[in-house]
Amino acid sequence: MSNFEKLSRQDPHVYEAIMNELKRQREGLEMIPSENFTSQAVLEAMGSILTNKYSEGYPTHRYYGGNQFIDVVEKLAQDRAKALFKVAHVNVQPYSGSPANLAIYMAVCKPGDTIMGQNLPDGGHLTHGFKTSLTGQIFNSVPYHVKPDGYLDVEEAARLAKEHKPKLIWIGATAYTRPLPFKEFAGIAEDCGAYLAADVSHISGLIAAGAHESPVDYVDIVMTTTHKTLRGPRGAMIMVTEKGLKKDPDLANKIDKTIFPGMQGGPHNHITAGIAIALAEASTPAFKEYGQQIVKNARALGESLKRRNIKLVTGGTDNHMLLIDLTPFGSGLGVFVQDALDRANITVNKNTIPKDPAPPFYPSGIRLGTPALTTRGMKEPEMDEIGGLIADVVDETMRILPSRQLPEDKNTRQAMIREFKEQLPANKRLEEVRQKVLKLCGRFPLYPGMA
Ligand SMILES: *Cc1c(COP(=O)(O)O)cnc(C)c1O
Repeated sequence: MSNFEKLSRQDPHVYEAIMNELKRQREGLEMIPSENFTSQAVLEAMGSILTNKYSEGYPTHRYYGGNQFIDVVEKLAQDRAKALFKVAHVNVQPYSGSPANLAIYMAVCKPGDTIMGQNLPDGGHLTHGFKTSLTGQIFNSVPYHVKPDGYLDVEEAARLAKEHKPKLIWIGATAYTRPLPFKEFAGIAEDCGAYLAADVSHISGLIAAGAHESPVDYVDIVMTTTHKTLRGPRGAMIMVTEKGLKKDPDLANKIDKTIFPGMQGGPHNHITAGIAIALAEASTPAFKEYGQQIVKNARALGESLKRRNIKLVTGGTDNHMLLIDLTPFGSGLGVFVQDALDRANITVNKNTIPKDPAPPFYPSGIRLGTPALTTRGMKEPEMDEIGGLIADVVDETMRILPSRQLPEDKNTRQAMIREFKEQLPANKRLEEVRQKVLKLCGRFPLYPGMA
């Protein structure tokens, strides 16, 4: 399947785009912390004929005939998830993380109910009640924050929960580099009678590897995407814990009914197969080592950056992710550093930092992580080198920027970004970094034998 023989002849346009993307993945340092490289076995399952089948319902309770083999696949995914994460119940059908979260809301809340989640500019996810997400419009969202030192403000969350009596509390983040305080949040949820849902999308692979504490003993519901550190296909799972069933014996049933028929139609069976395979991979000793190495790599990268005077939110990391704070250089500079790193084949994303002085679309931080590089086999010595390369790019960005302040006026701002971008292709220092990146990538082949 992986040589694209049929596709290259039938549709050269799509084929060419896929080949270009494969080359981009091979020749760059993929450092967006929510991305990873799934195994070829998972890719084969995703490219399989399972995509042809409709199977609305759940194993042995389907609305269509001919599902005996689909049932085998979905049961394998369920059993493996339950064994790996030690949960009472799992639904492997959510199309992705965002709809899975919406299903959790609709299973335990009514529109207008009060909910609490980590504020988006403080590292929380859109779907935890941010104002531009439907979840912030359907529900009465009371966000909690991080302290000036970047750590979660547990005391504020406790105070807000007491005052607002939310129906549902989220613990989980998309830009947070420290352990999630599951136990403390369990106390907060119990005190106000709220359901507690852990969204471990970013860290579920670390949890599987024992590199981050599991929320399972502390929360009622666990949601994870399957394509981040867990290294499976794009998808999601909703798990219900023993604790959740004790609080609400009907909770598993409510979740299942909200996913189907409440929100979705037919499950994506080719994805379910990929999830089953990824879960088996995540149960191996090799994956334990992988998860531990992700964290060691993130720490090594952090140390390397700090040696070059690059400031990190909270001063470092305990997981797979780092947040660079660019405010010592100026305000709203994330976009420039992201573009300059792109020019050097280093892929990261600009990100808000706590108390960001600039607006969310022009934030003052850079979010980066080590899951994908660790999958390629890179270790501490490479992280050390990469930290130096990133610092070189930051230095060069500051050298060529005409101003350290992002202009307030929209047209002036866009002109500055455009002019900055236009000069990047000719920049010799960035080209030197790119050459070093190419050399490094060449030592860690990605998908050898594919195409
Ligand atoms: C990625 C992520 C999601 C959303 O997942 P999608 O598959 O992109 O919809 C939800 N919550 C958290 C914490 C995430 O990191």
